[in-house]
Amino acid sequence: MLPLKEKDKPIVQKLLSSGCCARCVLRFCCVSVQAAYRKPPQDTLKELQAFISNTENSKSQESAADSTEENSKSHDAAVSEPPGEPPNKRVKLEPIGTEEDAAAAAAAAAAAAAAAAAAAAAVKLKEEESSVCVACLGILQDLCGSTQAVKIAERVKAEKYEFDTVVLSVSLPAQLCVREHSCWLHVKKELREKSMAVDKDDAVQVKEAFKWIMQGLVAKELGGVAVVIRSLFEVSVEFTHQETDSDCHFLASTCADCFRPTRNKQSVFTRMAVVKALEKISDAVFLKHYACPPAQPTSSCSAQDVQCLHLSIFIAGRYNKFSRSLPQTPWVIDGERRMESSVEELIAAPVLSSFRADGFNFSSSGREDVDVRTLGNGRPFAMELLNPHRSRLSKVEMKQLQETINESSDKIRVRDLQIVSREAMSRMKEGEEDKTKSYTALVWTQKPIQSDDIAFIDDIKDLTLDQKTPLRVLHRRALAVRQRVVHRMNTRFLDSHHFYLELKTQAGTYIKEFVHGDFGRTKPNLGVLLQTDTDILELDVESVDVDWPPSIPE
Ligand code: ZN
Repeated sequence: MLPLKEKDKPIVQKLLSSGCCARCVLRFCCVSVQAAYRKPPQDTLKELQAFISNTENSKSQESAADSTEENSKSHDAAVSEPPGEPPNKRVKLEPIGTEEDAAAAAAAAAAAAAAAAAAAAAVKLKEEESSVCVACLGILQDLCGSTQAVKIAERVKAEKYEFDTVVLSVSLPAQLCVREHSCWLHVKKELREKSMAVDKDDAVQVKEAFKWIMQGLVAKELGGVAVVIRSLFEVSVEFTHQETDSDCHFLASTCADCFRPTRNKQSVFTRMAVVKALEKISDAVFLKHYACPPAQPTSSCSAQDVQCLHLSIFIAGRYNKFSRSLPQTPWVIDGERRMESSVEELIAAPVLSSFRADGFNFSSSGREDVDVRTLGNGRPFAMELLNPHRSRLSKVEMKQLQETINESSDKIRVRDLQIVSREAMSRMKEGEEDKTKSYTALVWTQKPIQSDDIAFIDDIKDLTLDQKTPLRVLHRRALAVRQRVVHRMNTRFLDSHHFYLELKTQAGTYIKEFVHGDFGRTKPNLGVLLQTDTDILELDVESVDVDWPPSIPE
């Protein structure tokens, strides 16, 4: 039994005769019982027709229809009397037939005329049954049911996603809002006469009804996976309609400022813009430009390809870089590739294939130059994996993935590889300036040195440098003087022109510039301290002191 009340009868009557489908009638009657929408629409239509024709009966009988349910039941029994005659057809034909009967009583050719009229009405009824709903443009009719559910499930299965739950999202053509508005104004007239206070927001949205009907069907087709409101995995169904622009066109002249052309949209009539315009337009102006109830559409919506999207997942780890000719990210100058690979590509290739992701974003705690190695425990990094078809790996599988990366190249090595949350990733970036880093530099001196000449450097503690933005990074960093601290230094004499310098510094210190001085842009620098020209021949990062991600015991 439909959860409708006596007061809904005129609305049902009005909407059915305007060309609304059965489910849309329920929507405008603010029926929020989900099961009502899941019934076959032809059954709902029969019930609605029985419901309104009962009004005629109760009117003629002058009986107070307090119990709608009882009345409808008895009516159902009444219409089923002539066997073989579908009740809905009969109900639909009844009022027309009655008029014809009256005419027949006056005229002589009664029987022939009535038969002709009945035949015509039957054709009309058939048309109405198969015609596209003026409100939902077919979305709650043929575009919503098990056929559609099978189509959705097939697409999901074909892409071989792994997921626990799924959220179903639906995108509708913009003119649905216009038609909704027109239907609502149509109903509102009736409500105002009855002084019933019902808000437009109380009506059930097409989107909502669609989901109520489809969620269970899709879940069944996917073998019982829960279709929920929030999930990492989203399946989107998009409907478009060829008359969107012509249906919305009047809004562009009445609310021109709502429709500005945007670069990446094909049409200015986006759902957002149409909703905004409808909020602005007065009922009077709307009714002047648009039919109320809406005109019969020439076709129903078309369903576009089903889109599947798994939200990003994040993995983190630490990497070593053992090569002095490997950039961290692809090195492209003027559209031309300078180095054949990069740290992120070497890591990403096995990761992408393991998670079957469409793409990635790489980030790390600082970065080293192409000619700098990163040794020790390595540099923390994180990767966002876009649209992963697989989102979980066991510890063993993760270990295997790490092995695969490490075996694929001797230029890098990865450790502590793990899945992390988006939130945890920010730990890598936070307080980066306060962190320390340790380096080893191979230094050349112009003047010959002995080990005694450099020993005093070991005693220097917390040396503050003024570093003017280095010439080599001026193209990407603003010109400024930044203060950085060298906490400790240690020297290892090699020969009369070379020594190793170990440094522990504040993150963000430019080590190369500290050693060669950058034409005096870094003050003080090693050359000033040693009173000779100095240059840097090799640099290694020994440790990046960020305690994230957590280490994983081997
Ligand atoms: Zn409809």
